Amino acid sequence: VTGLETMHTKTTCPYCGVGCGVVVTTERRQHNGRDVIELIGVKGDPDHPANFGKLCSKGSKLAETAQANVYGQVRASQPLMRTDRAQTVSPGTWNDALDHVVDKYAELITQHGPDSVAFYISGQLLTEDYYAFNKLAKALIGTNNVDTNSRLCMSSAVSGYKRTLGADAPPCSYDDVALADCVFIAGSNTAYAHPILFRRLEAARAQNPNHRLIVVDPRTTDTAQMADLHLKIQPGTDVMLFNAMLNILMQQGWLDMATINLHTEGFDEYARGVAEYSPALAARVCGVKEADILQAATWFAKSPKTLSLYCQGLNQATTGTDKNTALIALHLATGQIGRAGAGPFSLTGQPNAMGGREVGGLSTLLPAHRELSNPVHIQEMEAFWGVKKLSSAPGATAVELFDRLEKGDIKAVWVACTNPAHSLPNSQKVARALQKAELVVVQDAYLTPATVEYADVVLPATTWGEKEGTVTNSERRISRVRSALPPHGEARHDWAIVVDFARRLEKALASRGVPSSSIEPGKTLFPWNTPEDIFLEHRETTRGRDLDITGLGYDILEHLGPQQWPMPEGASQGTARLYEDLNFPTASGKARFVFAPYEPVAEDTDARFPWKLNTGRLRDQWHGASRTGTLPEFFSHEAEPVLALNSADYQRLGLNEHSWVRVKSRRATVTLRVKPDDSVAPNQAALPMHWGPEFFGGKGGVAGVNALTTEAFDPYSKQPELKHSAVHIARA
Ligand code: SF4
Repeated sequence: VTGLETMHTKTTCPYCGVGCGVVVTTERRQHNGRDVIELIGVKGDPDHPANFGKLCSKGSKLAETAQANVYGQVRASQPLMRTDRAQTVSPGTWNDALDHVVDKYAELITQHGPDSVAFYISGQLLTEDYYAFNKLAKALIGTNNVDTNSRLCMSSAVSGYKRTLGADAPPCSYDDVALADCVFIAGSNTAYAHPILFRRLEAARAQNPNHRLIVVDPRTTDTAQMADLHLKIQPGTDVMLFNAMLNILMQQGWLDMATINLHTEGFDEYARGVAEYSPALAARVCGVKEADILQAATWFAKSPKTLSLYCQGLNQATTGTDKNTALIALHLATGQIGRAGAGPFSLTGQPNAMGGREVGGLSTLLPAHRELSNPVHIQEMEAFWGVKKLSSAPGATAVELFDRLEKGDIKAVWVACTNPAHSLPNSQKVARALQKAELVVVQDAYLTPATVEYADVVLPATTWGEKEGTVTNSERRISRVRSALPPHGEARHDWAIVVDFARRLEKALASRGVPSSSIEPGKTLFPWNTPEDIFLEHRETTRGRDLDITGLGYDILEHLGPQQWPMPEGASQGTARLYEDLNFPTASGKARFVFAPYEPVAEDTDARFPWKLNTGRLRDQWHGASRTGTLPEFFSHEAEPVLALNSADYQRLGLNEHSWVRVKSRRATVTLRVKPDDSVAPNQAALPMHWGPEFFGGKGGVAGVNALTTEAFDPYSKQPELKHSAVHIARA
């Protein structure tokens, strides 16, 4: 083996929404007379503004996980298919696999209409992949049944922003973490979920002796341990807390009346609503001291610059939109918005949760933040795509999609780059739906996800290190993802699989007399040869919209580095901060106060299910662990799913280090180890989310962690309440 050439490729970490830049080092070598490219290592990119060279435990092991995935043979390397459910899948050609799916999709669309098929995609996909899937579903097939695991991640933050500020646009930048005097973290274990951003917070606190950190969380997480004030609230009581804080602001006269009067609407009604929310009431319901609520309100209002960081603790709830709305109201009422170091800042869980929203890759959206409910937006996209008619009927959202699949209304589903049999709530119901489907297509880089078990067709996709495109992180920053390695085996890029399939389907639908588009014969809606072609089309959809990126291209990202949208044509750089003029993208230009009364969690405890179960992330694992689960060192933090109970409860149940417990919800039962952990409050339990059915007994839709969780969802965002389920716990 001879080293011939060393290459360094700048790309982006594929894990969390911090979106750190990385530099991949590869070597081109001669091996047995063949040119091979080997992955040598991954380092943080010192020039990337999200991380300036730093990486967390997951990012710093990207080279090792990429190699472990290949050598551990967990990668999908060739198409697999079956035409008979009694058989198992076996290797086939790309032509056979795609033609089989085209035949079935065309048959179903012809016989049962476009809404009989669906796509369930992922915040792990690149923006270009997302755009391609969205256009395939909406423009060619004519269905809005394209939803994504981003629905489990950010949709309540989206509805909160739209309801109050008028647009799905996080107004802040990571730089604001260093500029804030007070940081209010609600429902986010930032230390685990966004580690490099947390490093910035640690550095800011080290430099500013007057810095205040308030953490609202039912658990004493590593993040909460650093707080000056930890409000250890009862799960799901955030709206009660935020309303009481606003009540205090009103009582104390700490409102910014100039901002309220000039730049907002609806405050009077809001004030009448929160008048009922006394600190004493909130202290009782939330389970915290009245004095602590007063302290939190004081620091929030009186600090020169207050920044909120929030994540799944607010979003994954049946009241997720209300929680977001109530928190943003605190910022509007105190004028803590539109200034450096101040504002509400949602943290995206996934690497490209925002990119999917930008291209409208959800069942309730159209490209560039257009709405299905707006006839003008529909007409704009019909004209842009050159199609006769787009459906305005909202498609099925994540939970609804698998409901309809189980009922038989949706008959075929294409799952790309996500693992719903593991990650959706009530996951055994999802397994039943997949079993019932007439066709399940799984497009993935890995063979290990639980959903692969149900696939009739497995389409091997490229993954991090091999792909080209863009992603958008939590601060609206678009970064390039670049390929440093050749595709594994016969794997193809996600966008390229969509294009190949779509061109075949165009012909199949036309031959069946289903001309869904007005394009001329012989032309295609999918004329792209590279991801850059797709980016340029996506870019044009944003012209004049709130996320206008007509000033951005791959060439500019190459020269200027990652940029924050909007960046309209002619701009020399992206936009760090939104709403600095306090002019909001609503009809009146004013931000809105929308009062929401406190509602308890969907599934409250009772005599049969008396414990409150919370689920969450570990420091060193990522989602279903397709990638992180291949390295032994990632299990040194937590080796398996262990139920955490308060030590008083642990003793009361007579448990010890050899004990196992049976955790039973209204949907399923799982048996696992248990540990005393006083970060968890009495009568509550916490469980990491990374272990699916395969850990608990392998195939056949057995219960994983999410078999326990409820699929009840927020009526506005349709995001399910993964953060709270009522369970019964007994010694096994
Ligand atoms: Fe990757 Fe997030 Fe870690 Fe950065 S903080 S290295 S984006 S996992």
